This record gives sequence, structure tokens and C-alpha cells, in this order.
Amino acid sequence: MAEHDSVIPAGGSGTLTAKITTTPVQNGRVSKSINVGTDAADARSLRLRFTVDVFAPIVAKPRLRLTATGLEGEGGRLAQGLEVPIAATVDELTTVHDADYVRNVLEGTLSAAEVRKIGFPWSPELVERSRRSAGGTLCAARAALDDGVAVNLSGGTHHAFPDRGEGYCVFNDVAVATEVLLQEGRIERTAILDLDVHQGNGTAFIFRNDPRVFTLSVHGENNYPFRKEPGDLDLGLPDDAGNETFLTTVREGVLRALEAPGLELAFFLAGADPYQGDRLGRLSISKEALAERDGQTLQACKDYGVPVAVVMAGGYAANIEDTVEIHHTTVRLAGGLAGIQI
Ligand SMILES: [Zn+2]
Repeated sequence: MAEHDSVIPAGGSGTLTAKITTTPVQNGRVSKSINVGTDAADARSLRLRFTVDVFAPIVAKPRLRLTATGLEGEGGRLAQGLEVPIAATVDELTTVHDADYVRNVLEGTLSAAEVRKIGFPWSPELVERSRRSAGGTLCAARAALDDGVAVNLSGGTHHAFPDRGEGYCVFNDVAVATEVLLQEGRIERTAILDLDVHQGNGTAFIFRNDPRVFTLSVHGENNYPFRKEPGDLDLGLPDDAGNETFLTTVREGVLRALEAPGLELAFFLAGADPYQGDRLGRLSISKEALAERDGQTLQACKDYGVPVAVVMAGGYAANIEDTVEIHHTTVRLAGGLAGIQI
């Protein structure tokens, strides 16, 4: 393990000090953890938990780049205050997933058909990334309960069911984080605001009989998954739906979800794939409208006094920089909610 301290000039008051820790992990790969403190007593922070792609050469979209001092996306440096999350444990994963499925993922003993359904070839890196992605969402949820808002720069793998993965989703990170916090007694009620263009079928199935968890999905009705699982509120959009229809539908759905009594936490799946330039989206939503979606959703959580953990979910723009820019905007707006400039 190697450590060094550095001082990073920050926007707003105070000076951020970062301790960068480099830890070798399996297969000679390296985990970087950046822990950030501040000398300003009144400084507020946005804690970003992320799963860095050094673990995931299988991920085809380099949305965001880790540098020595922070994270870069479209538009320059994104933020400091990054931490590589702890990998979700087997006990955490099995709050949602069947023990046999978790063991087969970890040990590489899934059948060929199961691997095909997931859509990625099995590798130790896939396991590492999937576990850290779930751990990151749990970290972000805990940070949101403390700070009001937090972001996992990964997560949103909402097509994973208890006994199987599909659609590039291995573990259902939001479901795992929800179930762990419910079992710990940290929360009693939560809402999942799934605004990715694809229906959150795994999530809806997992919580279908659980009145403690309100599942909202706003999605393309004719898009994958072709068999939808009924959630608490499913709002399907026609192909080529435009900005106005999209934003009206999102607003209606989010407000209805947040009106559920006694909510203590919300998860926001801020997929970049409703974008008009997305290869898998089938909608006609501009970047500006997606920024509006994020802003109004985050503000609604704040207005209702509900802490929010943001996860990235999907994004498959023909031009990869478009996906980066959309995610970057999401994080910037979440920072705005915490009163810090990113
Ligand atoms: Zn999606």
C-alpha cells in the first residue's frame, strides 16, 4: 500500500486535502482510494462513491476517467472526494440474491446460458466490478442518509433478479442496498425512482410484495425488457416520445412516488439512455431535457425532505462523449443540491 498527501484547490470555501491510497488487489490491478478532508469548519461535502474501470476492462464505455487527483468527464475535472467502495459481501448480496446464484457468479460456475443472458463474458474482473458496484450503492445510500445526497458513479443494474442476471446486470445493487438498510433498521420505507429508459424489471419483481419499497419506473414501453414486471407505478412511453411528454411523465411519477408516507430514502437511477442519440433508447430526449429531469427530481427529493442516493444506470450513445456529458451533468446537479460547486 502506498500513500501520499496532496492539496487540491477546491471551489467554494476551504482547501480540500486529499490522501490518495493505492492498494494492490487481485490480478495485479490497483485500487485507488481518495479520501478528502477540508479545513473549512462549515464546508459541506458531496460524497461520491465510485467503481473505477480499472476493475472492468469489460466495460466498453469509458464514461469517466480517474486521474491522480480526481475524476474527469466531459468539461474537465469533475470532483474530488472520491472513494473506491468496499465490495459487497456475500451476506449483503444474499439479502436479495439466491445463495446458489451468488456462489456461481463468484466461483465462475454459471452455465453458458446464464452467462449469455448477462451479456458479458465471465471473468474475475466482472465479479470484482459487480461486487464493488453493489458496495458503492450501499455506501452512497449510507452517505445520503448522513449528508442528504450522494452518488455512486456506477450501479443501477436493475435487470438482475434474485436467481439470475440479464441485460448486462449481475447483481441488483439498489435492491441489495435497500434490503441491507431495511434489515439493519436504518430505514423503514424507501422509494426507487427508476428513470432509465428500460423498465426496472428485476427491481419490480424483488419488491413486488413489499409495501416498504415503492418502485417507480418511467421507461420506453416497447423497449427491453419485452416482458415487464409490474411495479408500484409503471409509466411506459411510446417510441420517439419527446421532451415535453417525457418531463411531464417524470414529474408526475416522481411526485406520486415521493408522496408515499414515511419515506426515509430515495434511490434515483439517472440513466443516460433516454437521450435521442442513444443506440438503445428509442426516445427523442435532448440533453437539456435530461438535465431538467435530473434537476427537478433532485429538487423534489429535497422539497420532500427525502435523502437521495443517485446511481448512473445505462447509457449507450453513439458518441460516447454524449453519455459522459449526461452523467457529468447529473453529478454536477447533485453537487448543487449539496450546495457545492463541481
Ligand atoms: Zn437502460
